[in-house]
Amino acid sequence: RQSTFRSDVGALLEQVGTGKESLSFMKRRMRSLAAQWALAARKLDVSLQSHRKEEKRILVHVGFLTEESGDVFSPKVLKGGPLGEMVQWADILTALHILGHNLRISVSLKELQGFLGVPPGRGSCPLTGPLPFDLIYTDYHGLQQMRQHMGLSLRKHKCHIRVIDTFGTEPAYNHEDYATMNGYRTNWGYWNLNCRQYMTMFPHTPDNSFMGFVAEELNETERLSIQKSKVDNMAVVYGKEASMWKGKEKFLSILHRYMEIHGTVYYETQRPPEVPAFVKNHGLLPQQELQQLLKKAKLFVGFGFPYEGPAPLEAIANGCIFLQPKFKPSHSSLNHEFFRGKPTSRQVSSQHPYAEQYIGRPHVITVDFNNSQEFDAAILEIMRTKVEPYLPYEYTCEGMLERVHAYIQNQVSLCCIPGNLYSSWPGSPPRPFVHLSNSSTLAWAPNISAPPSWPPLSALQLLASLEGQSCVEACQSTGLICEPAFYRFINIKEAFSGLKVQCVGLETEMNHIFPAFSVERSECGLQKDPLLFSCAGANAKYHRLCPCRDYRKGQVALCRDC
Ligand code: UDP
Repeated sequence: RQSTFRSDVGALLEQVGTGKESLSFMKRRMRSLAAQWALAARKLDVSLQSHRKEEKRILVHVGFLTEESGDVFSPKVLKGGPLGEMVQWADILTALHILGHNLRISVSLKELQGFLGVPPGRGSCPLTGPLPFDLIYTDYHGLQQMRQHMGLSLRKHKCHIRVIDTFGTEPAYNHEDYATMNGYRTNWGYWNLNCRQYMTMFPHTPDNSFMGFVAEELNETERLSIQKSKVDNMAVVYGKEASMWKGKEKFLSILHRYMEIHGTVYYETQRPPEVPAFVKNHGLLPQQELQQLLKKAKLFVGFGFPYEGPAPLEAIANGCIFLQPKFKPSHSSLNHEFFRGKPTSRQVSSQHPYAEQYIGRPHVITVDFNNSQEFDAAILEIMRTKVEPYLPYEYTCEGMLERVHAYIQNQVSLCCIPGNLYSSWPGSPPRPFVHLSNSSTLAWAPNISAPPSWPPLSALQLLASLEGQSCVEACQSTGLICEPAFYRFINIKEAFSGLKVQCVGLETEMNHIFPAFSVERSECGLQKDPLLFSCAGANAKYHRLCPCRDYRKGQVALCRDC
């Protein structure tokens, strides 16, 4: 059945239910962004023209909000606790609803069992019949609950699951046996999913799919009125919980020399001691009022925590400059408590790497805060600089709808594709590609009728990384992005010869950095297990083979011909 885009969120609001502060927060957000979503749906509808729009039956089970997982978030909604997740779930629900799918929402185990057709009173009886949904969006908590309550059949229905996973899961951590044998086992990973089933808040490693969220987009009138209302010496500090201000007196007093400082720190009766008297603290604000404050402010400043939240994008969208600390060395699960146990080795180079790498100057300034001269100079630069409100397309309602729509229509068989396409064909054609150019970036073109692939194979560009470099970095360094869906096409010995690499030895092994080669040892390695294809992997002794692709400006998840 074809889906019809919706322009009204009324039915969704009714479906979301009541009784939790977190649900009320999400509904307030849905209401306040409803007009933007509707407009975006109309625009996307026009640009998609006659493209396929199949209606799907979708279950959204928000595991972290269930009582069974402790629901630690709901009581904190009004107290400065993390809201980023709530923002993202509200936006995912809205996007799925607007795209016209048949949606069921569950925030308790009981609802989950009801929707999956587990008979009441038979708590852990496995679901054996056909799954009544095409897709299930959940999180790690929900996954755990489904394992407990769907039992063995989870394996059967695994392909339909998408896991909303803020910080991402890398292949080495996802592969249960490999993780266990090689020291990558964490509390969260090891589900043996296709890593593209994990969907992240920001485009981290492309091994995962980038889901994102939205921020409010200003229209022309609002842009003009912002220009008039901006107060050049007004700063808002990023951090709604008092603990985020601890030990920051030095920076605050430098900043206070130049600017009037505002905060939105939660408090009960008294000003929290961490917030100096010269700061005008508004207390935790409703989202809409925070946006008003940001419309006036010139500077939004972060002191290192929280990591990678939505607020900096909202600030930039409202015409603020975001000033944030550079981390030297980078923070990661290897050296920082917050990331410890998260299934990724990603190096977090600043408080908000997306703002640093994808947006940058003049909207984002990333400096070493421990160097007070640098900090001082940055504030002066900000006071002098005029910026326009800016929101990357991928964080607009239209951008999110476009991306989610593309995933739903095209990521249809994430776990059913044979890993190495050509080796799994009896009598397979040995040379699926012809070598096109001889620059450092080698372009390949399929010389057989290409098997169906999404993204389309025409976007593939094969590259060898430098020693120690990951494919994330190697593709990025040539203005491309690593595309894990293409590994199966380049995991062949011809890829080495195409790059003029001499392989004296050629092994096929379970190793998350393969396909790769070592010049020193003239050794080449192919990947044995498709679950271990990894854009993120790197090893000091190896050059990796990297399947890169182009991407649309402002929509990194999609290639030009996607
Ligand atoms: N927020 C809010 N009131 C405030 C401060 C923040 O509603 O006083 C909202 C803000 O609009 C953002 C959300 O909280 O969308 C999450 O913010 P943050 O970037 O701090 O991420 P978190 O750490 O909460 O996930």
